Amino acid sequence: MLGLGATGLKSNFVTLRHPYKLNFAITYWCQSRCVHCNIWQIRPKGELTLDEIREFARKNAYFKWIELTGGEPFLRGDIVEIARAFKENSKGLYILTMPTNSLCNTEMEIGKIKQILELGIPRVAITVSLDGYRELHDRIRGVPGNFDKAMQMFRRLRELRKSYPNLFFVFGYTMIKQNEGQFFRTFEGVKKEIPDIRYNDFHINLGQTSENYYHTSDSSIKVNGSELAAVEIRELLKKREFEIGVIPKIEEIFLRGLAQYAKSGKQPMRSRSMEASLFLDSWGNVYPSIMWNKVVGNIKEADFDLSRIWEGEDAKEVRKAIREGREPVQWTSCEAYQSIIGNVAAFVKVRNTIY
Ligand code: SF4
Repeated sequence: MLGLGATGLKSNFVTLRHPYKLNFAITYWCQSRCVHCNIWQIRPKGELTLDEIREFARKNAYFKWIELTGGEPFLRGDIVEIARAFKENSKGLYILTMPTNSLCNTEMEIGKIKQILELGIPRVAITVSLDGYRELHDRIRGVPGNFDKAMQMFRRLRELRKSYPNLFFVFGYTMIKQNEGQFFRTFEGVKKEIPDIRYNDFHINLGQTSENYYHTSDSSIKVNGSELAAVEIRELLKKREFEIGVIPKIEEIFLRGLAQYAKSGKQPMRSRSMEASLFLDSWGNVYPSIMWNKVVGNIKEADFDLSRIWEGEDAKEVRKAIREGREPVQWTSCEAYQSIIGNVAAFVKVRNTIY
């Protein structure tokens, strides 16, 4: 069985029989009030049950990288069992990533993360959302005290890491109009709380609109075309410490591409949506990505067998659209990593971009 890296490289040359990355919104419940996302307003009903997710995991046992997102994924009381279902079936599962807004009870959440770590997945990565210094973050997220909860979560993850070397975590900073030009002030705000914080402890994304995921089309939150955002990202690239390894290198390429994307609004390379990855929502609808509002099937209607959707005409049409340059612009961490791994020639081009 090929590992994650080998499968990603293989995707340069052939159409994979299965996706290796699953982006799965396990719930749209969220207790946040973010200005750049309307998920919190949905109050969803009829989401996939644990038994249905288990059936999906059993019939599609080939994922190497899974993102369990939300909403707030830790609002699902069965998140440990969901992770277990994928781990038990996808034997080559190498990395499980989960974001958190830190608004659940911290000790309850740490307890669940600990149980997930004990499943034996080689890398479990948590992204702690943080979009500003104390006042700014709480304003963007609409919840007083959220900044302090995020600091508490980060500190507790550090303690947990002493016992679990398979735990990795970063702050996830989303650049939007409301925090434009405020990244380094945010970094200083965090440094007051966590004096040894490093620039490498931050992962950056650009705020996006997406009708099928964020349920927003208000593009006034976006910083695409912003020289200021591009400058901040380039400054961050200079300040980051050099780290050896494939994942830090891919993160560097991602950031270089993000600076290009921020400035030009253009995607640095074509995506691998419906080749390497897909987006599954909490009702079982399958989309090419979180940014591409085209339902290509529903796993319940396909008897939970993704191959029926993967080989269908709608999925083929998506691949054709990508080949012909007709995909929506997308450069998010959900999509970009597998784009980088699966486009080595474009990877080198972005890597050699001079700033
Ligand atoms: S960005 Fe995340 S935390 Fe904020 S409303 Fe959307 S799902 Fe909730």
